[in-house]
Amino acid sequence: MRKFEPDKVAVALLQTALVNTGIATINVDGIYGDKTAKAVRAVETRFNMDLDEGSAARQTLGILDILLQNGQLGQTLAQADTALAGKKVQAALSALAAFQTSRLSGKVPDTLTIDALSVHFRLTLGSPTIGITRQLTNADLATIIERYTQLIGLFAASATRFRTGAPVNGIFTAAEAPINGPVTFGPAFTNVNSNFGGFIGPNSRAAILIHEGVHVFDRDSGRSDTHISEFEPAYSIQPADLSLHNPSSYASFAAHIDSKRDPVPRFGLGPGARGL
Ligand SMILES: [Zn+2]
Repeated sequence: MRKFEPDKVAVALLQTALVNTGIATINVDGIYGDKTAKAVRAVETRFNMDLDEGSAARQTLGILDILLQNGQLGQTLAQADTALAGKKVQAALSALAAFQTSRLSGKVPDTLTIDALSVHFRLTLGSPTIGITRQLTNADLATIIERYTQLIGLFAASATRFRTGAPVNGIFTAAEAPINGPVTFGPAFTNVNSNFGGFIGPNSRAAILIHEGVHVFDRDSGRSDTHISEFEPAYSIQPADLSLHNPSSYASFAAHIDSKRDPVPRFGLGPGARGL
């Protein structure tokens, strides 16, 4: 749909959506004139979408649809989600601190933490190397603790380090982040069903925040041999040295500790995973 669009019914629906979302006060007359074009451009600007010379592209209509469902999207939603993501990261940090204290005092650490380190990082307390698992070192623990500590700082700065926008990898990508950020959350990162895909539940959104956060701090996190989804069979046999750079390992370890079990299916965006 663009200026001088002949389908007056479609234009009137677009105008109704622009009025009902509070984005513009325009007449619903079915005529796609300058005011309607300006209102569409306002949507594109507000959500950092590609400026489309005021033509109501699919992404604009999709965003209006989310807003009409009282849904949230992008940075607004992600910033609210730092509460749950931060709680999971804190749970991971507390568990790792307790684990280290037990180890140093010669006690047997908590079974949950031992299991989660083995499942998500292939690190064990046992013998040096068996297949892909290996014995956990102080350096490994320091690496994991440092990464989670960085995530706490990132979430605290989400007002400036998160943004809404059109992901480079496409409008259907929920979120993405280059090294040093910012983290871009697209309209597909939403809590309602939309033209960009199904809704994403709070636990899966928290997993996405943790995952993208690791990309901000670890230059090796996007490599094809490290970046293996928690939904892939290859995840469970990824060698420890690579898992320490895998964003999905950090998201799933924190969820495992916080849920006191490895959730089935895991949180994030995989087959059947909604993360409610
Ligand atoms: Zn990733």
